[in-house]
Amino acid sequence: MTGSVPVVRTVSGLRAAVKAWRAAGESVALVPTMGALHEGHLTLVRLAKEKCARVVVSIFVNPAQFAPHEDFDRYPRDEAGDLAKLADIGCDLVWGPDRGEMYPEGFATRIVPGGAAEGLESDFRPHFFGGVATVCCKLFTQVLPDIAVFGEKDYQQLCVVRRLVRDLDLPLEIVGAPTVREADGLAMSSRNAYLTPEQRRIAPTLHKAIANAAAAVSSGAAPEAAAMEARGQILAAGFDKVDYVEVRDAGTLAPATTGTGRPLRVLAAACLGKTRLIDNIAA
Ligand code: AMP
Repeated sequence: MTGSVPVVRTVSGLRAAVKAWRAAGESVALVPTMGALHEGHLTLVRLAKEKCARVVVSIFVNPAQFAPHEDFDRYPRDEAGDLAKLADIGCDLVWGPDRGEMYPEGFATRIVPGGAAEGLESDFRPHFFGGVATVCCKLFTQVLPDIAVFGEKDYQQLCVVRRLVRDLDLPLEIVGAPTVREADGLAMSSRNAYLTPEQRRIAPTLHKAIANAAAAVSSGAAPEAAAMEARGQILAAGFDKVDYVEVRDAGTLAPATTGTGRPLRVLAAACLGKTRLIDNIAA
């Protein structure tokens, strides 16, 4: 049976709800999202529900992580649809602040992440991880959860958030969840809605190419050669631009050094028209 999910819009309302759960001895999980929820997001919520008594899903399209030329205004929004999906899977509370509640008049503090935040996405979206780290830090201190669940779909973000929590001694555990894919391999993403039918046909090549690169590296190919080969496959399929294909250390995201036995990750970003897709896979 489908019930409904309560939505809180103020930090004080959120704190009161979480405080009542804490008083009852219940554990709390947070799943941060920007809404337009798909099966990838719902998988994170189900995992959160397995691990904690209560699950808060935040829905906030964070202006601080979009550059002026990016898609903040046209980013898909469907709160009614999101709430129906969350009710179906037993989410306990939606944290849905408006922009003024999250960034009140005079807001002037920003976290500047280094380490895993450097390179890859940051070469193309230099403002991005500062915005992500700042909003995540706020979400963590607003909700004060035991765990927060993030998708490996945004692998660099997961590394940055893990570092943030360690560096600032934030009292929660970060849990990573595997990428949920369409039947043809395309990683689910709210931005897939932008794709034309022709672009949608081409899009799964991003996953195929990095999977090929991962297989090649696992069987001893040089990381640079495997990445170069993947770049060629992505362009040959009809992508308009490849921002990067890189093989990196899976823990630190430092450039890969083979023969150390450390796990590696292949990460890529490429554009179909104006739509920018990212994906990654273990090598
Ligand atoms: P977003 O709403 O795009 O900011 O994503 C919110 C959370 O959902 C992030 O932790 C993402 O990594 C995760 N996520 C998005 N797409 C997927 C997917 N296809 N599989 C698993 N997690 C995902």
